[in-house]
Amino acid sequence: MFEEAKVLISEEVLQARVRELGLQIAKDYADKDLVLLGVLKGCFLFMADLCRHIELPLACDFVGLSSYGDRTSSSGVVRITSDLTRPIEGKDVVVVEDIVDTGLTMKYLMENLGQRKPRSVKICSLLEKPSRSVVPTHIDYLGFTVEDVFVIGYGLDYDGRYRNMRYIGVLDAP
Ligand code: 5GP
Repeated sequence: MFEEAKVLISEEVLQARVRELGLQIAKDYADKDLVLLGVLKGCFLFMADLCRHIELPLACDFVGLSSYGDRTSSSGVVRITSDLTRPIEGKDVVVVEDIVDTGLTMKYLMENLGQRKPRSVKICSLLEKPSRSVVPTHIDYLGFTVEDVFVIGYGLDYDGRYRNMRYIGVLDAP
């Protein structure tokens, strides 16, 4: 279906890891007041699959972030395009992100969330590109580490497209 995108992480491998992450979070948050906070838009498939493996009465909320930069790199100047719908004061928040690249987006978000007085905040990221790190990011729940390649699929886009691919892939000739 997507001949132009070669498979980096197959649907089967993705789903197995997402399940493991969900079960681990369920264990760690059994007695907590968990809010899953998805970072739009890239989180949407990951969050949908992840939350169904966490059999707890959790809440889901979303934040839209946009970083000024070109299509394939972040500038570090981030703004909130869509804010949380409920206060997180006293809650145990797990931020659900598609990929931590330079780490600048997460740094901004963690600082912003800290001001809202949550009880705890942890990060769950499907992917991480350590070779591109500008600021160190502690990822509490990590799916996979990837090389310095631009990945698409399973929520991640290239120019707004390919988010619906069931696997993580790399474009042959972007
Ligand atoms: P950071 O601030 O960590 O550099 O960038 C994080 C955001 O940049 C991610 O949430 C994602 O939207 C975008 N991004 C970084 N690397 C990639 C990539 O390889 N593919 C896609 N589609 N987006 C990426």
